[in-house]
Amino acid sequence: MASGRPATHPVIHPSHNHPLRGYNAQVEDEIICSGCNQDLIGAAYKCTKSECDYFLHKLCFELPPKIRDNCHPNHLLTLLYSPPYDHSIYTCNACGEYGSGFAYNCSICQYDVHIRCVCMPESMKHDDHVHPLALVYSSPYPKGAIVTCDVCNKTISQNLWSYSCRLCNYDKHLHSCVTDEEQETCVAEEEEEEEPEDEGRIRKRDVIRVATNIASIVFGFGPLF
Ligand SMILES: [Zn+2]
Ligand SMILES: [Zn+2]
Ligand SMILES: [Zn+2]
Ligand SMILES: [Zn+2]
Ligand SMILES: [Zn+2]
Ligand SMILES: [Zn+2]
Repeated sequence: MASGRPATHPVIHPSHNHPLRGYNAQVEDEIICSGCNQDLIGAAYKCTKSECDYFLHKLCFELPPKIRDNCHPNHLLTLLYSPPYDHSIYTCNACGEYGSGFAYNCSICQYDVHIRCVCMPESMKHDDHVHPLALVYSSPYPKGAIVTCDVCNKTISQNLWSYSCRLCNYDKHLHSCVTDEEQETCVAEEEEEEEPEDEGRIRKRDVIRVATNIASIVFGFGPLF
């Protein structure tokens, strides 16, 4: 089994037409992964052409070309390196946000999910709730019921994924909701920038969690780093 370090010699990845090389991304590099479009810190691959800004997480580099996932049990999902349907973006069936990087796709059903979403754990513990929350792939409530997120108080769309405790009817959005406290930090840090809707905002702890989950999907065991 290879160690956790990316290869130092140039390697070809089917997502890019130049060779890539192992790279250790630092926080101050402020790199975004060209695969999952999230912050990239740590083990990575970088395009060998100096003028090319193509980077991948080591774990995005290693994603399996096909997976079977509980979110779409009847068909395999295929990893696409660019958005399906000849558009530059797709809408993720898990979180409802746009995606422009890699996607897992079922071409039969036109079902598309972000890498980040497909890697969310099937159950998780949220600080605000005593029970573990289960990942659900559509609303667990009767059709037409309006479900409100117990963290941010915004509506959770019926056909999107969420985390739910059925014992208490406690529900939350798939990804981190922005609490008032976090909002204040954002404002303080980024006064100059107009922040778009914050729901899809990527946080470093998400990146770590995604990386950990990809590792368990790909290799069947826990965190690599
Ligand atoms: Zn990535
Ligand atoms: Zn390149
Ligand atoms: Zn998504
Ligand atoms: Zn399908
Ligand atoms: Zn929420
Ligand atoms: Zn509960």
